[in-house]
Amino acid sequence: MFEGLSDKLSTILNGLTRRGALTEDDVNAALREVRRALLEADVALEVVRSFTDKVRARAVGAEVVRSVSPGQQVVKIVHDQLVEMLGADAEVIDLNAPPPVAILMVGLQGSGKTTTTAKIAKRLTTRDKRRVLMASLDTRRPAAMEQLAVLGKQVGVETLPIVAGQSAVQIARRAMEAARLGGYDVVMLDTAGRVTVDEGLMLEVADVKAATNPHEVLLVADALTGQDAVNTARAFDERLGVTGIVLTRMDGDARGGAALSMRAVTGKPIKLVGTGEKVDALEEFHPSRVANRILG
Ligand code: GDP
Repeated sequence: MFEGLSDKLSTILNGLTRRGALTEDDVNAALREVRRALLEADVALEVVRSFTDKVRARAVGAEVVRSVSPGQQVVKIVHDQLVEMLGADAEVIDLNAPPPVAILMVGLQGSGKTTTTAKIAKRLTTRDKRRVLMASLDTRRPAAMEQLAVLGKQVGVETLPIVAGQSAVQIARRAMEAARLGGYDVVMLDTAGRVTVDEGLMLEVADVKAATNPHEVLLVADALTGQDAVNTARAFDERLGVTGIVLTRMDGDARGGAALSMRAVTGKPIKLVGTGEKVDALEEFHPSRVANRILG
């Protein structure tokens, strides 16, 4: 991921560091190239504009530090600005609430929601030693319920037994009750997805949210859909109040536009990224590491 952008930015910024003294024109010319590289990586226009404005303001006003060249100083400013754009610190899933803690998984169909639910459940079980119960609320697609049950067996996490004819809210309530009685720490609720953001979906998920009072509402979005992923996240956040984002298919995303725009556009952190189809292919998102990788 970020290959193209990384190559371009390294070339542009290396060009700067080779110069002895930098003029404002040098900086502006480099920033024009940076802007083009970010747009080619499919970063949202508003984000690109604000990014280059901030770098310019800091670069022009910066005091010259003797130990580094002016070019290196600009590289540092670009790095810091990238970190700020991505969200300063790595965020983790917050389980700091009385158990059972509900985690509501939301997103469009095909985004990787069910797979990600199982990945997170596995991580919470094996790494964080939590007792996790998963439940599928996809009442319209029995296959999705089956899929979660199969994944649950695969990762060694229990799923709520399927009862035909219940509504999403009824299943969610049953899951919370079962978790309370069974002494579970975490309940992961895999909500139904639709092909597009629609009113019916939002109403249903809002009802589930009201009934379960989740501590985290995680929006799962497909990085390969670029700016559509960012717009989807914004729409879900406006209606449901998202607490974090999981960006899937980062393994296939060479450009990285969704990852780079998500925080700046939605104000919500990317908490985890999916990096493959396997149940272990889940990683934390560390803004400073990502910025380092981009700058090579
Ligand atoms: P849902 O409809 O949102 O629940 O999506 P699924 O969980 O069924 O995932 C759809 C497809 O995407 C499946 O084939 C998954 O294996 C695949 N998938 C999910 N996450 C990732 C990921 O991070 N990388 C890759 N390459 N594939 C993924």
